[in-house]
Amino acid sequence: MASEDPHEESIKVCCRFRPQNQLEKEQSGKICITLGDDITSVYVPTIDTSFVYDRVFGSESTQKEVYDYAAKPIINGVLRGFNGTVFAYGQTSSGKTHTMEGPDIEDEVQMGVIPRMVWSIFDGIDHAADYIEFVVKVAIVEIYNERIRDLLDPKKDNLKIHEDKARGVFIGEVTETYVGSEQEIFDMMKVGKYNRSVAETNLNEHSSRSHLIFMMTIEQKNLHDRSLKVGKLHLVDLAGSEKVAKTGASGERLDEAKNINRSLSALGNVINALTDRKSTHVPYRDSKLSRVLQESLGGNAKTSLIITCSPSYFNEQETISTLRFGQRAK
Ligand code: ADP
Ligand code: MG
Repeated sequence: MASEDPHEESIKVCCRFRPQNQLEKEQSGKICITLGDDITSVYVPTIDTSFVYDRVFGSESTQKEVYDYAAKPIINGVLRGFNGTVFAYGQTSSGKTHTMEGPDIEDEVQMGVIPRMVWSIFDGIDHAADYIEFVVKVAIVEIYNERIRDLLDPKKDNLKIHEDKARGVFIGEVTETYVGSEQEIFDMMKVGKYNRSVAETNLNEHSSRSHLIFMMTIEQKNLHDRSLKVGKLHLVDLAGSEKVAKTGASGERLDEAKNINRSLSALGNVINALTDRKSTHVPYRDSKLSRVLQESLGGNAKTSLIITCSPSYFNEQETISTLRFGQRAK
């Protein structure tokens, strides 16, 4: 099993291209990238640069292929009591939500990373020895303008991060719901989505400016020796990475943009520090996002970063900027 390999890096970076959309086809239909035959590289002719990742997925890639490579190996660790994180990073409409949730979380073919991980966890529980007792808890939050909002109880919209010896880093007062089946989690995801939408006039715009974090805690008590293992999974659909045009953005919109830039670059800095052997300080405290994820990044945790891109000339500048972010994480 891949995750049992001690030489495997703790941060895996994958790049996924979506198919061109209608608008892009109408713009010219031209493609700005060439995929390498090695399935690990992508070349951008305009800047004569190749980018190399652990894996590159083309427009035709399936949800299952992406899941099998980028996310499935993390499950083994979580069931052994380690933490895991999967991020989707990219400009708005590049395929983050498609990758993490999919167009239908209950369709076997179309479901994305989150529902597939949920299925695998319960499958692992079903196959565990009968002297292991499992407790599974789920929380769903979003971080918008550096405020943490509970999507299972949206009245709680400015939750604080705490840290203590027993629990480590945690979000105080967040709703953690005990779950016993896949279906209960899918129903909660729908509640989370609904709660995210009701407060906002434009869900698409709002969701592109906030980070969505799906958190799953798997506790297992060994009834023979009374030992306890706790594994946490953080599955994150990040805010859109696009640059907000300098003209036009002002007031609230500009503050939003600054907060997004700040938290995404703080995340990049944390990942860089973790992959750079020479680095001694990991700046987790620079944003709410990196602070919440502190114990799921680095150490024994397994992390996958999936960068999502458009293949079209129309979006070339944003695609290059996304490819660079992914490259810095290697
Ligand atoms: P984001 O969450 O990054 O803003 P979405 O996931 O909502 O972007 O994707 C934008 C549109 O492109 C959606 O209609 C989605 O269904 C489609 N799409 C994204 N990625 C793919 C893909 N790999 N294959 C097919 N359609 C995709
Ligand atoms: Mg989205």
